[in-house]
Amino acid sequence: MLGIMKISSVLSAPALLARHYHFLEISKVYKYFKEKEVEGLQIRLVQMLDRAREYAGVPFYITSGLRSEEHNTEVGGIDGSSHTKGLAVDIRVLDSTCRFKILTGLIAIGFKRIGIYPNHIHADIDNLKPANVMWLG
Ligand SMILES: [Zn+2]
Repeated sequence: MLGIMKISSVLSAPALLARHYHFLEISKVYKYFKEKEVEGLQIRLVQMLDRAREYAGVPFYITSGLRSEEHNTEVGGIDGSSHTKGLAVDIRVLDSTCRFKILTGLIAIGFKRIGIYPNHIHADIDNLKPANVMWLG
């Protein structure tokens, strides 16, 4: 009787894995972003943004995250935009100090694809596109 109870109290490997993945789900809580702000974005992207935001020390206000194909066309996004894959964000830029801090944070954390626009910075982690690029738009 005692033996049977002992065996049943030991978790099988799949049960342990399930627990592990459950933990990963919970870890979708970010320091600087509410779930709603980053809806549909890849977790790795948001984790990197969270760290970049910490480094930058200024608010990251996301003006565009995940886009449907239709919405992407409406806003003049390129075909195959990383926004449609949940791999890109646009971060609002208010002034040159803010731009400098956001860029510094993004680069320090390891973003390799950055677009600089008058009123926002685009950052993505789309590894199907060239790395170590920074463009003006
Ligand atoms: Zn963008």
